[in-house]
Formats: sequence, C-alpha cells, structure tokens
Amino acid sequence: MMKRLSMLLVFSLAFALMPLAGVFAAQAASGLSVEQTQEGIAYSFSVPGREFVCLQYQNRNEQGMMTLYSAQGLFQGVLPMRYTQSPSNTQVTVLSPAQHHLMSASIAFDVEATQAFVKAQPDAVNKVNDLTLTAGEKEMHWAFTASGHETLMLQFSSVMQKGQLIITAKDNGHFSGSLSLPNLYARDLVTITIKDQKGRVLAKEKERTLFIAPDPGETIKDGPLSGVIVCIDPGHQQAPVESKSIPVMPGSNKSVFSDGKSGMAQGVVTFRKESIAALEISYLTCIELRKLGAEVYMTRWNEETGVTNLNRAGYAEEVGADYFIRVHLNMSARRDADALYVYSPNTSPYAALVVDKQTYKNLAQALLDAMKAETGVRHGVVRLSDKFIGNNWAKMPTFLVETGFMSAPANDVLLSHPVYQQRVALGMAKGVIEMEKVKAASLE
Ligand SMILES: [Zn+2]
Repeated sequence: MMKRLSMLLVFSLAFALMPLAGVFAAQAASGLSVEQTQEGIAYSFSVPGREFVCLQYQNRNEQGMMTLYSAQGLFQGVLPMRYTQSPSNTQVTVLSPAQHHLMSASIAFDVEATQAFVKAQPDAVNKVNDLTLTAGEKEMHWAFTASGHETLMLQFSSVMQKGQLIITAKDNGHFSGSLSLPNLYARDLVTITIKDQKGRVLAKEKERTLFIAPDPGETIKDGPLSGVIVCIDPGHQQAPVESKSIPVMPGSNKSVFSDGKSGMAQGVVTFRKESIAALEISYLTCIELRKLGAEVYMTRWNEETGVTNLNRAGYAEEVGADYFIRVHLNMSARRDADALYVYSPNTSPYAALVVDKQTYKNLAQALLDAMKAETGVRHGVVRLSDKFIGNNWAKMPTFLVETGFMSAPANDVLLSHPVYQQRVALGMAKGVIEMEKVKAASLE
C-alpha cells in the first residue's frame, strides 16, 4: 500500500559527512581484521566450521547487528557507517548465533567534517506536531517542520540498528530525509525521536518497516507433486481478529477463547514476532512446493489478514487440501532448545475420518524426517495432540510444524535468515513427497 521509497533519495546530507577516502590503521584480533574504506568499515575473518555468525558494531554515534552466512566460514564485507558524524572509535564484535563472543577488534573511524549544531532562534518551537514516518523495506522516510531551528538531533532506534545524527533544515524549518537501515528485517519497529540542542524531546514516533512479499512462484506441470493440493497456514498474524470462544474440537462442550494472537512467540535476539517469520518461511515453502508441481494455497499472504484458527481449518477444506501444513515457531524456557515438532490431531472426531492413528503418526514422522535432513536439526518430536483448535477442526491430514525455538538465541537468529528459512521450506516441501509415499503404502 505504501509506496517504496527510492534508494536514491537516501542521504541528502551524506556528502558532507563522507568518511575520508583511503585506508586507515588496520587491526587484527583473532583473525578479525577491520579497516576504514570509502564505504565504511571493511571486515574479514574466518570461523572454520561455522556457516552463520552475528556481527555487531558500535561507536558513540551508531550501532548495529546483523547475521552473516558463508558456506565456507569465510566472512568479508563492509559495515556501512552512515551515521558516524564525528571521529569515533568503533568496536566490531563477532558472536556465534547462540550469542557467545568469538572475536573482536576496534578501529579509529575518522570522518572528513564534524557536523555541529547551529544555535536555534529565540522564538524556536519546542514541540513538533507533524512528524510523519513513511516506511520502506529497509528504510524509513521522515518529515516534519520545526520553525526557528536550523539543526536538530534525530535519534533512531530499532533492535538491529540504532544511531543519532544532526539534521539540517531544508528551508523555513522544514526537515525531511530517509534513513537507510540495511540491518533491519521486515516489520521491524523503528522509533524516531527529534531533540533540540539541549536534549529536549520535540517529537517521537514509531513505525514498522514494510514486508515486501516475494513472488510466490507458479505451479509447474508434471512435477512429482502434480495433482496434490497443499494449504499452508502461516501461524498467527498482526491484524486483530474477532476474539471469540470456540469449542476445542467438533462435538466438544469445552470451549477456549481465541484471538489468533495469543501464545505468539517472539525472538529473544531479533525481537521479531512469530507471525512475520512464519509468513516468510511459508512463502518459501509455497515456492518450493509449486516447483514440485503442487497446487498451493495459503490462509494468509500478509500480516494484515485476520484469520481465526477455525477460519484456517475451514479455508483448507474449501480449497480441497490434501495436506494442511501449519507453520509456527516455538518458545520455551530453555535458551539452548533446538528441536523440531510436528503436531497432528489426536482424539478429534474429524481426525478419525482422515486416517488411522498409526498412519497419521507415520505421515507426521515422514514430514519431520525430511525437515531434519534438510535443516540438520538433530532432535525432533511427533505428537498427536488435542491442544490445537485449527488441527482439531481440519478434515484433511494436518500438521502443525514448530520450526524451531524463537526463545533460543541460536534458533531465533537462524529462523530469520533467508538461507536457513530456505532449508526449513525445502524440508517441508520434500516432506510432502515423503508423505505421498506413506499415503500410497497405507492404501496398498
Ligand atoms: Zn505459534
């Protein structure tokens, strides 16, 4: 709905603050070398045997965190130090996905021109009423008027990136610009605070970055899953849904209150909501299944669609799904949790219409085994359970997949990285092929 902002708009004031060209003092610590370049801080290091690491950087102007992937454990790239407006010692730290310190280095980061405040006029406003934020995918456009001010301080804060910069009015106290936030995930919350020279808050607003959906792909002809219909159900959503009491399963006089948001997990490192990570993984699963020839539907394609668990099961029936795969992310008190779970219904009368319990278990196990093979996760559990309403009301083979633990740092970090998400998606898609084999065998 909101227009994507052009990258070209970014940093009208970047030119004045461009870091000095050329290479400054390089330091190495435990294999981590950093040096200043035209674009920021170039880093390189190796961590043999590791595909994923987290990289953090921090100085008094800005800080950030990102997850890096390398098949060979050789990592190199550039940290874009876009908000460092004065010479500042910058600390760079490499962490494991579980957030254990691996190595660090520091560098004296220099800038050509130090940005300074211009004294406000005596009648300058001390409150801003029109601060508007317009989100892009990895950027945030801001605009406001503050008459009597030529310069102000803009502070931005999100989990993955924060910083502060002195901004300059374009004319008559009108301020506008865009923050480039390359570390941010989709739907990350950004808080922007405008302060005057004395540190007084003039305005504060929050906005989430956009989720730009990938192309969900097309169903190929004559694939191994041609003729198979799969309904994918990305767990939860951001939109509120009408909350009401629903019988836990058909014929039950026990009802539970459900608003589709309750029990949602949240990342312990990324602070991401389960609903967006589930949506991203679901898109990738849709793409993989369509590449195998399956006809794929999803119960929601964005965060704004409010669907109850009953709606989800009903939709899977409406599209004639052969398999109903429900994508969730787990939480637990253990920070080292690392396991996949596949839940199918147990005593629901609808489940009994689908297949016998042993076949149900075999199907779920086939899905789980394919996911373990693809992700490398060693532990997995198959359970027939009554606790999921959307499972209990489904009239086709139904699998609620907990793809990992957002409460465990290492799982949380990986479950938001596209490379790992792709493995989860491929595991589920291959799992459908394996379930087709189980189904065929059970009919013999
Ligand atoms: Zn969930």
